[in-house]
Amino acid sequence: MFLRELDQPITSINGLKDKKAEPFIKAGLCTVADLLGHYPRDWEDRSRSVPLKDFSRFPAICTVITVLAHDWIGFGRMRTLKVHVEDDTGRAVLVCFNRPWLEKQLVVGNRYQLWGRHFHYKYGELQCSEFETEPLGVGSGPTEDGAAASGTGSSGRSGSIIPVYPLSAGLTVNQVRRFVKQALIQYGASIEEELPQAIIERDGLLPKSQAVRAIHFPASMAELNLAQKTLVYGELFYLEVIIGRRALERRRPGATKTTSAAQVPLQGKAPDLDKNLINNALAVNDASFTPLQQRLIERLPFSLTAGQTGAIAEINSDMDSPWPMARLLQGDVGSGKTLVSFLAALKAVESGGQAAIMAPTELLARQHAENAARLLEPIGIRLSFLTGNIKAAGRKELLKRLAAGEIDIALGTHALFSQDVVYHDLRLAVVDEQHRFGVTQRSLIMAKGDHPGLLMMSATPIPRTLALTVFGDLDVSLIRDLPPGRKPIKTHLAKEANEDKVYGFVRKELAAGRQAYFVYPLIEASEAGGRTADLKDAESMADRLAREVFPQYKTALVHSRLDEEEKRQTMDAFRRGEIRLLVATSVVEVGVDVPNATCMVIEHAERFGLSALHQLRGRVGRGEQQSYCFLVYSDPEGPLPTGENIEDWQARLKVMLESNDGFVIAEEDLKIRGPGQIAGIEQSGYLSLGLANPIRDAAELERARADAFAILEADPGLLRPENRCIAEVLERAAPFGGVGV
Ligand code: ADP
Ligand code: MG
Repeated sequence: MFLRELDQPITSINGLKDKKAEPFIKAGLCTVADLLGHYPRDWEDRSRSVPLKDFSRFPAICTVITVLAHDWIGFGRMRTLKVHVEDDTGRAVLVCFNRPWLEKQLVVGNRYQLWGRHFHYKYGELQCSEFETEPLGVGSGPTEDGAAASGTGSSGRSGSIIPVYPLSAGLTVNQVRRFVKQALIQYGASIEEELPQAIIERDGLLPKSQAVRAIHFPASMAELNLAQKTLVYGELFYLEVIIGRRALERRRPGATKTTSAAQVPLQGKAPDLDKNLINNALAVNDASFTPLQQRLIERLPFSLTAGQTGAIAEINSDMDSPWPMARLLQGDVGSGKTLVSFLAALKAVESGGQAAIMAPTELLARQHAENAARLLEPIGIRLSFLTGNIKAAGRKELLKRLAAGEIDIALGTHALFSQDVVYHDLRLAVVDEQHRFGVTQRSLIMAKGDHPGLLMMSATPIPRTLALTVFGDLDVSLIRDLPPGRKPIKTHLAKEANEDKVYGFVRKELAAGRQAYFVYPLIEASEAGGRTADLKDAESMADRLAREVFPQYKTALVHSRLDEEEKRQTMDAFRRGEIRLLVATSVVEVGVDVPNATCMVIEHAERFGLSALHQLRGRVGRGEQQSYCFLVYSDPEGPLPTGENIEDWQARLKVMLESNDGFVIAEEDLKIRGPGQIAGIEQSGYLSLGLANPIRDAAELERARADAFAILEADPGLLRPENRCIAEVLERAAPFGGVGV
C-alpha cells in the first residue's frame, strides 16, 4: 500500500471510536492516510533538561517540578487556575487557561515532568501558560485526556523528541500523538516505497515507511532531518513527474498538429524535454524571419532588441515543429512583448491560419487593437476586436467572419474564447499578462482549435521556482534587455506629510510638457468604511488635484467602475496628450503604454503589493525622457486589499527603491508573500505540497526536476522495472489529487 492508499476510516485505529473520532473528522482527518500525513509543525527536543532558572536562555523549559499550591483568579466562566510549582532552581506559576481539570491532575505535593515555553515575568512571578506535564513516579500514567505524552516505544519522558501538531478546535496534542502512534503500529509497516531505489541510495534517503514514522516520532534530530529530506524530495519529485508527463503529453505522437488527438500511449524516446526551459534567448542572433514578419520589421522606426529577436527565433522554430507550441514569454515591463506577439501572430497567418491575442482588461485589449491597426493593417492583415461589450448585430457579423476565416487576427478580452466563438482555423492563442488567468483557462483556449500554439506572456517575471512548478511544462523565452535609450526610472520615497514637495516636482515636469499618473488604492471615499477613513481615494483626489494643486492642467479620472466608452475616451485623450494628468486606481497597472508620461505618483504605496508597484512604475520610463516614480506612504493600519501582510510594507518599498529589475523584484516578492498569494497557481499542485517549500527547498526542487525529467526522457512509458513504482504511484495514488495530470 502507498501511504495515500491507506483510506481506511480513522475509526479503524484501535481506541479511536465514535466521540473520540469526531474532532479528527471535523479537522479533515478522516482516513489513516490523512492522519499519518498530518505532519507535525514542530518538534520539541526533550532529551536535555532545562531548569527554571535558565528560562531566558532556552526556548523551552524541561524540568522536574513539585506542585506547591493551587489558587484561582477571576470569576465565573473566566475563572482560571494557577498552579504554583518549584524545581531545584526556582519557582514558577503555571497559568491554566481553559484547563480547569488540571486542578485534579496536578496534585499538591506530587512531582511531575514539566515542558513549557514562553516563560516570562508577570506581576513579579515567573509565569507560563504553554506547558505540558506528565506524572513522575508510578509508571508514566496518563495526563489530561488520558494519553501518554511520550515518544516512540516505551522511552516516554525525557530522552525523546516530541511532535507538536497543528491543531484545530476539539483536538489536543496528546490525542493526535497517541493515535498517530497507534496508526503507525497498525499500518506503518505496510507503507510501500514510492521512490526509485537508485535515488534513495544515491541520496541516502530513508525508506518511505521509516520516513513517515520518523517524521512523527524521530529517534534523534539526525533521523528527523533525514525524514524531512526524504519526504520533501518525494513531494517535489512527484510534482515534477506530473509536470514532466504534461510536457510529454504535448509532444506525444497523437498530439501533433496534423493528426487527430487519438489516445496514443507514451512510448519511445521523448524529444528533448527540458531543452528550451529557461534558456537565455539573448544569444540567438541568426533569426530568420518570415516574409510577413520581415515586412512588419521594416516598417518599425526602431530595430528589434536581441531579446525580441531571440524570442521570435524560438517561437518560429516551435511553430515549425510538429508539436503545438506552449511557450511562456517572460520579459520585464516595457521590454516589448506586444511586438513579439504580433510577429508570432503573423507567422500563424502566413501558414494559412488565424491568431487570437487576449488581454486581461478591455483597456489593454483596445490598446493592442489600436497598435495592431497601426502596424498590421497596412501590411494587409484583417483584424477584429472582440470584447464582452460588443453586442448583438455587430458581434454576430464579427463571429461569422471569424468562422469563415475572413479575419486573420482577433484581438480582445477573454470574450475571444467564450462559448459561441468559433474560429475557422486557430493556429495561435496569445495570452497577455497571463498571471490574470488561471491555469485552468488554458484548456478553454486549447479547445478552440486543433492543437493551436499557446504563447503566454507574463506581466512581471516569474521567479524561477514558480516557473519550474506552476509553468513547469512550458518552454520559456526570456527577454532580458530593454529597448535601447531607456533611462532607468528614478524612484523616491516620500512621507505623506511631504506630498507638497512631490506635487511641486510633478508641476515642473508638467510645465516641461510631460504627463503624470497619480494612483490611489481606493475608488471613492465610501469604500474605506470606518477604520480606514483617512485613506485617500481616487475620486476625491482627482477633484482636489484638478482644483487646488494643478488647476492649469487638464486632469481626468479612470477606474474600473467607469463604463468602457468613458474609459476609452479618457485613455485616448491621455495618449494624445490632451489630458496631462491621469488619476487612477490600479486599472493602469497593466500594460498601458504612454511614452510621454514621466511621473508616476503612487499614494498610500504601503497598500500595494510588490508586483503591482513594479507594474505601476513600469507605466513610466517608456520614452526618451528621464522618468520618476514617487512612492508616497503613511503608516498603515488595517488589512491590505490584496490580502498581503501589512507589516511587510517597509520591506516592499525598500525593494522598490533598491531595484528596477523585474526579475529581482519577483524573487523578493515571492520571499515576502510566499507562493500562496500568487495568482493562478491554485491548480498547479504547488499549494498541495505538504512539507516541501519550493522556495526554501529550491535546490531539492532542481534536483527532483532533473531526476524526474531524466527518468521520463529515458523511459516515457515508465515501463522499466526500476521505474515501475512511479507508474504504480501515478496509477493507484496520484499525488496532488491528480491535478494537472
Ligand atoms: P511590455 O513588454 O511591457 O508589454 P510593450 O510591448 O508595451 O512592453 O512595449 C513598450 C514600448 O516599447 C512600446 O511603446 C513599444 O512600441 C516600444 N518598443 C517595443 N520594442 C521596441 C524596440 N525594439 N525598440 C524601441 N522601442 C520598442
Ligand atoms: Mg504588455
